[in-house]
Amino acid sequence: MQLENYIRDIQDFPKEGILFKDITPLLLHPEARAKCLDALVDLLDQQPIDKVVGVESRGFFFGTLLADRLGAGFIPVRKPNKLPYATISASYALEYGTDSLEIHTDAIQPGDRILIHDDVLATGGTAKAVCELVERLGGTIVQCSFLMELSFLNGSEKLKPHPVAAVLTY
Ligand code: 5GP
Repeated sequence: MQLENYIRDIQDFPKEGILFKDITPLLLHPEARAKCLDALVDLLDQQPIDKVVGVESRGFFFGTLLADRLGAGFIPVRKPNKLPYATISASYALEYGTDSLEIHTDAIQPGDRILIHDDVLATGGTAKAVCELVERLGGTIVQCSFLMELSFLNGSEKLKPHPVAAVLTY
């Protein structure tokens, strides 16, 4: 089974000129989904993890599956004003303007070993903001893991020195 076959290319989504990698076929197919989860676990190489941080919203799918498999906690990082308790936020640059992400202040204890997960690594701006949130709360980033890395955008450079791993590379 080739996992690439469960990623659908959508031309001009969410706007013209963008080729969007759609993971919904992968979510739909139980065997492909299980194989992908196994691959994410293998990428960790048995390093212990206390908590998985999933990035809104597509990072939640495999993020929670990973947390379950690893016997770890799950932490949602969300868009502004979605989390109900006390938060800290970090902003990142978009093509036009900025956006920000938030995390609950009590989600991480100093020294927690953290796995950050999202579906796609593109320019790395999103994941870098998440790294900043984790480190401000005293977490130790073990790995940033993705289903896909769009390597021509050099996102992993932006995340240095944190280890980056992806199931599929384009
Ligand atoms: P970055 O900040 O690395 O440029 O963009 C990564 C973020 O945008 C991730 O949260 C990811 O979900 C989303 N993203 C960017 N391009 C794609 C894509 O082609 N497919 C999907 N599914 N998400 C994307």
